[in-house]
Amino acid sequence: MYIVCRSNDEEYGNVITILHAEEGEQSPFLAVEDAKKQKRLWQQEESIKVRFIVDNQILTPLGLDKWARSEYDSLPKCGECYRLLHGEVYNNAMSDSALFCSIICAARHLDRQVEYQNDYEEFYF
Ligand SMILES: [Zn+2]
Repeated sequence: MYIVCRSNDEEYGNVITILHAEEGEQSPFLAVEDAKKQKRLWQQEESIKVRFIVDNQILTPLGLDKWARSEYDSLPKCGECYRLLHGEVYNNAMSDSALFCSIICAARHLDRQVEYQNDYEEFYF
């Protein structure tokens, strides 16, 4: 998850930083939206130059969007509904390494795996 905060960087001056954290925004897209909004608000208060920093790198607004996409791709997702996984995760008897966001998704996935196996077996009989 991500926390977005204003700070004053020794090298870059006024910066909006996106930090990895235990709490805060759950999706990198929301963190980026929040960062852009905070920049607008900050520049309404003072006419100053504000930059974005993520993972110790200065990024342009376009760079932020790119970062959010690759960050999202790297995050673990539910094997059934593809939502981002947070907190408790579930598995089922046939899930191998897949994890699920809820007991419902784990059950749906199991049902589908069983149907798939039945379909496959029918092919040979
Ligand atoms: Zn799910």
